[in-house]
Amino acid sequence: MTSTSRVWLVTGASSGFGRAITEAALAAGDVVVATARRPETLDDLVTSHPDQIEAARLDVTDTAAGAALVADVQARYGRIDVLVNNAGRGQVGAAEETTDGELRDLFELHFFGPAALARAVLPGMRARGSGAIVQMSSFGGRVALPGFSAYCATKFALEGYSEALAAEVGPLGIAVLVVEPGSFRTELSGANLVRSARIDDYTPTVGSTREMITGIRGVEPGDPARAAAAIRTAPDADTTPLRLPLGADAVDGILAHLDAVRTELRTWEPVSRDTALAAG
Ligand code: NDP
Repeated sequence: MTSTSRVWLVTGASSGFGRAITEAALAAGDVVVATARRPETLDDLVTSHPDQIEAARLDVTDTAAGAALVADVQARYGRIDVLVNNAGRGQVGAAEETTDGELRDLFELHFFGPAALARAVLPGMRARGSGAIVQMSSFGGRVALPGFSAYCATKFALEGYSEALAAEVGPLGIAVLVVEPGSFRTELSGANLVRSARIDDYTPTVGSTREMITGIRGVEPGDPARAAAAIRTAPDADTTPLRLPLGADAVDGILAHLDAVRTELRTWEPVSRDTALAAG
């Protein structure tokens, strides 16, 4: 570890974006505490970069374990420069099909776990007046599609939290980067994907989403390594963006959504504005 190398803490580093971000940071000469539910999946990187990586076991839904890990890493390395809240999974099903338990479990993973880790790293970042928190949101954190109510709800929540967080910690020297990937070739639609039990009435609206999430596997256009390269450098930009969509599909979808939101707002603007208490 040199005086210029940064210390990263990455969640969900066993595959996909988490592994790609870990590899990008290692290639840049940084130090990574790569966390996973199965840290043995990182054995090859520990062997190839013994002085730069430490694989640690962490289920991000165990917020007490997350806080303890952060304290341990800070005690041993002196700091955490970049937290990457990456761990996640897919969930498909209509809102009515999704059980309370499924909804709560996804919020634990995509919202409460990342929020707890952010709270844990912030005292150290504030003390140093520097640091970055990378939040892996999604195109689905900006645009909601039928069948993704639970997934999008958790990512929208993370986006709102992060937008306020960025305004709070930016003046303290800490960057918040919300990453919004489109469709990338990872394990997201693999074994961890949860499919809620079907109700036939939703086949016309949610059926195509269920088919899409299965059919896209292995043909997703996005390259996680290229995404990781963008994510690694964005916190160092003169002006780090709050949101960074990745992939042409994400850019096109978000632009179309923004146009639709603006058009609807303008169409209903007279009604929206005409709601003040009468003067006098
Ligand atoms: P992967 O399935 O390849 O990776 C997800 C990672 O999260 C795995 O390492 C998995 O670990 C881990 N994980 C799941 N649950 C937990 C948990 N409870 N505690 C700790 N780790 C956990 O998918 P991606 O790389 O695509 O997903 C990474 C992030 O990117 C997610 O937040 C996802 O929502 C987001 N994203 C992905 C997109 C895509 O197209 N791929 C698009 C938009 C957003 P394990 O091996 O133990 O299961």
